[in-house]
Amino acid sequence: MSLPQTQEPKTSRGNSKSIAVINPATEEILGEVARQTADDANKLVAKAKEAFNIWRKTPANVRCHMMHEAAAKMREHKDEIIRLLTLEEGKPVPENEEEFEWLTNTFDYYAELGRHERGRVLPSGEYSQLNMVIKEPYGVAACIIPWNYPLLLMAWKVAPALAAGNTVIIKPSELTPLSSLYIQKHCFDHFPEGVVSTITGYGDEVAEPLVLHPDVPVIAFTGSLAIGQRIASLAAPMMKKLHLELGGKDAFIIAEDADPELAAKALAYAALTNAGQVCTSTERVYLPSSKAKTFTEALIHHVQSLRLGPGIEPTTDMGPMIGATYRDKVVKHIDEAIAKGAKVLTGGRIPKHLAKGYFFEPTVIASVDHSMLIMKEETFGPTIPIMEYNSFDEAIALANDCVFGLGACLLSSDPLKAKLFLEEVKAGTIWINDPLTDNYAGPFGGMKMSGGARELGQEGLDEFRETKHVHWEFNTSAKSWWYPYGQ
Ligand code: NAD
Repeated sequence: MSLPQTQEPKTSRGNSKSIAVINPATEEILGEVARQTADDANKLVAKAKEAFNIWRKTPANVRCHMMHEAAAKMREHKDEIIRLLTLEEGKPVPENEEEFEWLTNTFDYYAELGRHERGRVLPSGEYSQLNMVIKEPYGVAACIIPWNYPLLLMAWKVAPALAAGNTVIIKPSELTPLSSLYIQKHCFDHFPEGVVSTITGYGDEVAEPLVLHPDVPVIAFTGSLAIGQRIASLAAPMMKKLHLELGGKDAFIIAEDADPELAAKALAYAALTNAGQVCTSTERVYLPSSKAKTFTEALIHHVQSLRLGPGIEPTTDMGPMIGATYRDKVVKHIDEAIAKGAKVLTGGRIPKHLAKGYFFEPTVIASVDHSMLIMKEETFGPTIPIMEYNSFDEAIALANDCVFGLGACLLSSDPLKAKLFLEEVKAGTIWINDPLTDNYAGPFGGMKMSGGARELGQEGLDEFRETKHVHWEFNTSAKSWWYPYGQ
C-alpha cells in the first residue's frame, strides 16, 4: 500500500479566516469558527508546556477533583451539548445522549483511575535494594479528533492524558468543532491556563504543526488510515509516542443457530448506527448459505421499517451522512459492486423525499465478494453487504481476509463456535451476541492496519504514561564486581 499524501480538503477553503460549520441534515450554516494557523498552534504548545510543570506536580487528588468538576459542568450543560452534537454531526438524539454519557463518565472514570497508582514495586535482586517502576506523564499531548464521535473520542484521549499528568491540545474535526469549543469554554474553564486548550482549523494547517513540534511528545489521533499514515511518517523520525486509532472493516458472522428476527435487528444496529459512520460499523456480513434466504428476508423487512430524517426529529432512526464527499464514496462502492455482479436488495439511493441534507437510504446488497471495494475498503456509510458461507471455518477465514482488525461480531448460542471465533479472529474487540457495546474498564482499539492504540481501561491510561525503572541501593559501599577485576 502506497503512503498517501494529505487528503483533499473536504470543505472548500478559499482565503477565508473562518470555517463554516454545516448542518448535514439541512446543508445550512450552523456557525463559523476560526481558521487558526501554525502560529496559533505554536503559541498553544508554549502555554501547554509551561502548564505541564504545574499540572504534573499537582497532587493526584486535586487533579481527580478537577476532572470530576469538568464532568459535573458538562452535566449542567447537557441539553445544549446534545443539541450541538446533533446539529453538527447529524446522528439522532438518542445516539447523542449515549455519546454524552460516554463523555461525562469517561472523565469520572479516569479521575479515579488517575489517583489509584503510578507504578509498582518489584522484588529486588538484593535485600538492600528497592526496585520501582514509575509511570510518568510525557508532557504535551496533541489530541486529534474525527467528526463521527467528536466528544466521546475527545474524552477517550483527553481524560486519561490529564489523569496521567499531561497537558493537552484538542484539535476537533473542522466539520464538527462547535461542541468541542462549547466544552472548552463552559466545562474546562477551571483548569489552570494551558492545561487544556482547543484549536480549530484544518488538519494540515494546525494539526501537522502540532505533530511536528518538538515540544509535543505524544500524538493521539483517531481518524482515517490515510491521515494516520501521514502522521506516522512525520512523527516516527522524531521518535514520538504515537497513539493511532484508524479505520475498520468489521465482519459480522451470523451462525446457523441464530434467530432470523434477532439477527436482522442486531445487523441493522451494528451496520446503521450513525448512518454506518462508526469505526466499528459492521461492513461485511457473512450468512450461512443453508439459511441465507430466511436471514436476508428478515433483514430487508427490518431495514425497510427504519425512518430516515434529521437527527433532531424524535421520529428519526437514522440521520444523514456527514457530507457529500463521504456519500459519494458510498455511491462509488455500490456502483462498482453492481458492475461486478452484486444486487441491491433494498435502498441504494439518495432518498427523493429529503430534498436537502446528505441522506442515503439504508442499503442491503447481496452477491458481493472480496474483489469488490465494498468488501475491501472502509465504506463508512449505511450499507449492509452480505455474502454467504458454507462452513464456519470458511466464515472465519473470510472475516480475517482484511487489512483492518478493529472489531468483529458473532451471533450464536453455540459455545464451540464462540470459542473458535474469539480465538481465531484477529480483531481488537470481539462481540458475541452484543454488537458494538463498550466498557469503561475494557480496552478499545485495533489490530493490523486499524492501528495498535488502546483507549479506555488501564491500557488507555498507560498510553499516556512513560515507564521508568528505578533501581535504588541503600548499601553505599563499593560492589565486589566493580573494577579492578580479579580481586
Ligand atoms: P480524517 O483522518 O480525515 O480526520 C481526522 C482528524 O485529522 C481531523 O481532525 C482532521 O482535521 C485531522 N487531519 C486532517 N489532515 C491532517 C494532517 N495532515 N495532519 C494531522 N491531522 C490531520 O478522519 P475523519 O474523516 O474525520 O473520520 C473518519 C475516520 O475516522 C474513519 O476512517 C474512521 O474509521 C476513523 N475512526 C476510527 C476510530 C477508531 O477508534 N479506530 C473511531 C472513529 C473514527
